[in-house]
Amino acid sequence: MSTDQKIVERVEDALSKSPYCRRCGQPTAIAERDCALWLECSSNARPRSRLQSLLRLDLASSHTRHPIVELCMAA
Ligand SMILES: [Zn+2]
Repeated sequence: MSTDQKIVERVEDALSKSPYCRRCGQPTAIAERDCALWLECSSNARPRSRLQSLLRLDLASSHTRHPIVELCMAA
């Protein structure tokens, strides 16, 4: 199985296990950040100011957000 195929499977698996944020109920989405793919609450994906992102660190702590695939490790 190719690396790409494994990534796709892990993304699909993550989305099927956690289709919605456990806190706010927004659909989850895949985001690429810090050399990894993350499953995260789509409310986290909205553009925001630096101050808002600092303030959100605590507020958003229980929204669904976790890494699925380490892209740099896989490459
Ligand atoms: Zn959420």
